[in-house]
Amino acid sequence: MHAFHYRDGHLFCEDVEVAIAADRFGTPLYLYSAGTILDHFGRLDEALAGLDHLICYAVKANSNRAILRLLRDAGAGFDIVSGGELFRALKAGADPGKCTFAGVGKSREEIEYALEQGVYSFNIESEAELDYINEIASAKNQRAPIALRVNPDVEAQTHQYISTGKSENKFGIALEQAAKVYERASKMPAVAIRGVQMHIGSQITEAAPFVAAIEKIAPLVSELRSKYAIEFFSIGGGLGIAYESSIASGSGDWWTSQRSHPLTIRDYVDAILLPLTRLGLRILLEPGRLLVGNAGILLTRVRYIKETAQKKFAIIDAGMNDLIRPALYGSYHEIVPVNQSSTSRITKKNRTRKIDIVGPVCESGDFFAQDREMPPVQAGDLLAVMSAGAYGFVMASNYNSRPLPAEALIEGDKLALIRERESFADLVRGEVNPELRGVSPTL
Ligand SMILES: *Cc1c(COP(=O)(O)O)cnc(C)c1O
Repeated sequence: MHAFHYRDGHLFCEDVEVAIAADRFGTPLYLYSAGTILDHFGRLDEALAGLDHLICYAVKANSNRAILRLLRDAGAGFDIVSGGELFRALKAGADPGKCTFAGVGKSREEIEYALEQGVYSFNIESEAELDYINEIASAKNQRAPIALRVNPDVEAQTHQYISTGKSENKFGIALEQAAKVYERASKMPAVAIRGVQMHIGSQITEAAPFVAAIEKIAPLVSELRSKYAIEFFSIGGGLGIAYESSIASGSGDWWTSQRSHPLTIRDYVDAILLPLTRLGLRILLEPGRLLVGNAGILLTRVRYIKETAQKKFAIIDAGMNDLIRPALYGSYHEIVPVNQSSTSRITKKNRTRKIDIVGPVCESGDFFAQDREMPPVQAGDLLAVMSAGAYGFVMASNYNSRPLPAEALIEGDKLALIRERESFADLVRGEVNPELRGVSPTL
């Protein structure tokens, strides 16, 4: 469900014409719908109303502070994977007591910072990390609240790069080892056992893998509850979204332009509610993509049309440095015209043509769509790359010395810039003129 829809052939986000944002802030531009994010959060929260729960938004999906603030105000906690994400969340007013700290490679500085701030739980991914956290907390005369990330060894049926719950992945501690590691943790002076965590992957479009993982871990959870009086079980994130047909290409209705969802919030919650309720613990969820994915688009302008003997290309002003998902995962993003000309409103069959939509970066992997059926596209046209709200801007880079794009937020009929476009000066900030000196080993 999202708030992008056509009115009289013009793409709107909530009550704002998308082209106005492009005129005001330029392109490429990430544009987010606050209403969509809050709608998704509210529906998940409501579906879980009967259960003691906390939704910890996975900051890595989209970490702009304006987005974090929206979710904090709605009652969310945050799942962070680095010290930088904790810093952002705190800057957005987050309660550190509602933040969980995940990630396989936490550094000393990150652990100290999170201890000082008082995060709710360190979600631990290896015995070595457990020892390290115990040592650091001990030196600071503190007790680190911990949970182990348990790897249930289930197949999440998603892209191999975003599957995390199989035993061959680098994530978590094997289910068979977990009880033993908890036992060790219970004897450590500077850790306090607080919960159990799992996260089996991302863009999962069926309930079955979640249910299988929960059922596999449930006996351990019950055991830990009676042995160590744990408070919570976090079931991670990973709920998938619809990337195809996210907008009716004719005229979409407000809130209903999405034709299909691979797994609705309702179905997901219905499938997991019973086994979770039985555990009698506080349940944490860590959704990222689900909350923000369909709430954002990447606005881009067509620079040139290029035709070769075999192909027609639309070269746009956004590149793989702005949105890397197609190049990294081969992901599909729906791409629609911001203004449907009278010709482009003609039905698919008679006027669409297969084209490649590519960026300006010097890589053949720099494409957004290949052999895509599109209505006529001309130089100067604005296009919207749909469902770009998650793992979009956060993965953007300066490759090819391209300044990072701007980000804007819409709420109802209001529009605001939430991150300025980078300038050329930003590109070289931090670089210093070298003063090369020999490094003496005795110094
Ligand atoms: C990435 C991640 C999430 C969020 O995943 P989504 O697929 O965006 O919901 C949640 N928990 C952990 C530990 C993660 O690494």
